[in-house]
Amino acid sequence: MSPAVVASGADPSGAPRGGGKLIIVGTPIGNMGDLSERARQAFAAVDLIACEDTRRTGLLLSNCGIANPGMVVANEHTEHDRIGRVLEVLAAGGSVAIASDAGMPTISDPGAALVRAAAQAGFEVVAVPGPTAASSAIALSGFAATRWVFEGFIPRKGSERAARLVELADERRVVVFYEAPHRLLRTLADLAEVFGVDRECSVARELTKMHEAVWRGSLGRAVDEVGEPRGEYVIVIDQAPPLAPVTDDELRAAVHAAIHAGTSTKDASAEVAARFGVGRRRVYQLATEG
Ligand code: SAM
Repeated sequence: MSPAVVASGADPSGAPRGGGKLIIVGTPIGNMGDLSERARQAFAAVDLIACEDTRRTGLLLSNCGIANPGMVVANEHTEHDRIGRVLEVLAAGGSVAIASDAGMPTISDPGAALVRAAAQAGFEVVAVPGPTAASSAIALSGFAATRWVFEGFIPRKGSERAARLVELADERRVVVFYEAPHRLLRTLADLAEVFGVDRECSVARELTKMHEAVWRGSLGRAVDEVGEPRGEYVIVIDQAPPLAPVTDDELRAAVHAAIHAGTSTKDASAEVAARFGVGRRRVYQLATEG
């Protein structure tokens, strides 16, 4: 194995040295120029590649002039069945790369089950980081994403979708969604309805590719202005504005209602404090003042 790949492998968990190594390899999300030197070295050095699609990863290898070391398909249906084979190679002291079709494996892609299995079996697991659509889209949004939450693909329909949107509507972190082109406009419309038409968003399309484009503006305008959906998309939603601070009168009314319903003053104060996100002592004082 090449020195650069080996050098990255210090494992904080203290996994045994000298055994096999699982390498999570990030690959381009569209632009082959984004394949890193370390990714090449990893592919050239491993004994096996567990990938989503052998044709796609095979093409990547042949573009780089790297011989195919042997591949197994580890996609959403087969990943669990590949654990045995991967652990076998690692147990024999070999190394295995995980690659998905694009970007970082495990990010809305297979790979996590193999990572978990290898780590639990005590093998060294390292990442060769590569592009991921989420991080580029966040950077391009211009939102202050000191805190962000990755939602990936939201449920397509039904009560699960509605509940997820409601759950996220007041999220104080930037929210990132992946979306397929044929569902983009529907999702933007639903987001506008639940998050409000004034919420700022950024819609990044075909990142790193020829037709890369980023639309920025309010959710209310997005459906009409993003254009005909084609290609791959990431939707980034700016954080919700802070909720108006709750007043003493509102807290007093809430805690007295709870006490009136039979809850003890202490429990009512705790419950109301949690509900409104304020300190218990403040509610207790309001509940007990003369
Ligand atoms: N593992 C990938 C990553 O690290 O970003 C994500 C794979 S997921 C199956 C595919 C989704 O990622 C697409 O539907 C799209 O939402 C997003 N995506 C991937 N590549 C993209 C690109 N070049 N531009 C915009 N979105 C992209």
